[in-house]
Amino acid sequence: MSTIATEPIGSIPRPAYLQKAMQAFDKGDIQADEMSDLFKKATKETIEALEASGSPVISDGEQSKPSFATYPIHGLENLSGDGVVIPFADGHTRQLPKLTSGPFHYQNFASEYLKTAKKFTKLPVKQAVISASAISLLYPQEGIDGYSHEQFIADLIREAEVDIRRCLDAGAYNVQIDFTEARLALKLDPSKGLLPSFIDLNNQVLARFTPEERSQIGVHTCPGGDHDSTHSADIPYSELLPLLFKLNAGNFYLEYAAEKDKKSVLQSIKEHISPNQRVFLGVTDVLNPRIETPQEICDLLVEASEYIPVAQLGSTDDCGFSPFADDISTAREIAFAKIKARVDGTKLAGQKI
Ligand SMILES: [Zn+2]
Repeated sequence: MSTIATEPIGSIPRPAYLQKAMQAFDKGDIQADEMSDLFKKATKETIEALEASGSPVISDGEQSKPSFATYPIHGLENLSGDGVVIPFADGHTRQLPKLTSGPFHYQNFASEYLKTAKKFTKLPVKQAVISASAISLLYPQEGIDGYSHEQFIADLIREAEVDIRRCLDAGAYNVQIDFTEARLALKLDPSKGLLPSFIDLNNQVLARFTPEERSQIGVHTCPGGDHDSTHSADIPYSELLPLLFKLNAGNFYLEYAAEKDKKSVLQSIKEHISPNQRVFLGVTDVLNPRIETPQEICDLLVEASEYIPVAQLGSTDDCGFSPFADDISTAREIAFAKIKARVDGTKLAGQKI
């Protein structure tokens, strides 16, 4: 019998009243105070439901994050709307903003979400932050007069470090860097130069932390999950995993349940994981409304334990359930039911391994 760690990725679909209020707020129909109270209400309700799921580690459900990627820049003045476009398999796109002038700094830090969440629970809270590599996409290809790419990267590394450090200082159980563009990078740049440069940039941020701190820092990657569609599921994991484990982080939260060829994923993890790294496999498919049974989840983990030492094995969800605030493709109840199945299935696996 062993204890297998289990953690969420982060986001939970926002309740309908919050979605409506966010739209009203954008139109100027409600005031900031009212919006802030509703964010707190939704965060409290989400945390109570996560506690009821039996989850030993929780998040705030990202109820007040505008999106997993754009929270640090939400409200910045020096942005325009015409940045990098991310195409999804179902044909929809998301477009990032573009930086129009320097110097660059974060407008919001993730530790503020954590501080609010910690008021509502005694359970350990993990906090997700966006990767420096994702934010690096804001710098325009044509450059910015008087603000070089080099200056931008120096500012970005500093801000990304502060974002993580403030979470650790505020008592985060651990910090998860959302690196969903890892697999996408292999698609956007067939010459394969972009992914190593992303990894190098994120390692420059990680190098600013001690080994003890890095054991509390993890990385999440997935083929994207928005409106129940992906952006890079067609890129084989085998191209990503050998490079991914070069990240100098302690924990890896990998999309896994939706992968077709699971044995080759396990084999690749086995070959590339370092002894001081732990892998949390996604055991719930966040893009499929069918709720997994605890037994199915147990079976996935028992199989994985044949490849990965149990001390280095954990479970998670394939992705957040709603990384963008306006995504209503998954019902809240389904997200909580899947999380409960993950917790129960992971316990079951612990009894068998
Ligand atoms: Zn994800």
